[in-house]
Amino acid sequence: MVGTCYFCSERPRIGYWSYFCEDCANLRRMLLIYEPEKCISILKRTLTRDDSQIDYKVQQEIKKIVNKEIEDTDSSYEKKTYNLRKK
Ligand SMILES: [Zn+2]
Repeated sequence: MVGTCYFCSERPRIGYWSYFCEDCANLRRMLLIYEPEKCISILKRTLTRDDSQIDYKVQQEIKKIVNKEIEDTDSSYEKKTYNLRKK
């Protein structure tokens, strides 16, 4: 018999040798990929709200990331451009 997940204590573990249910095992993998500190900071900024606030906040965070990427691409693009205007 498979016991319950050690993290959420609700759902069954994915296997005899696993400590976690499927979702918690995925969470753990993501936390390890993106570093726990970064994930916690994102979750604090996004999940401590109700569902509609969460949706809005996630959109805002995505916009910030996209804008940052656009800024980064813009500045690297500008370094490669030349001013063709004659003085
Ligand atoms: Zn779980």
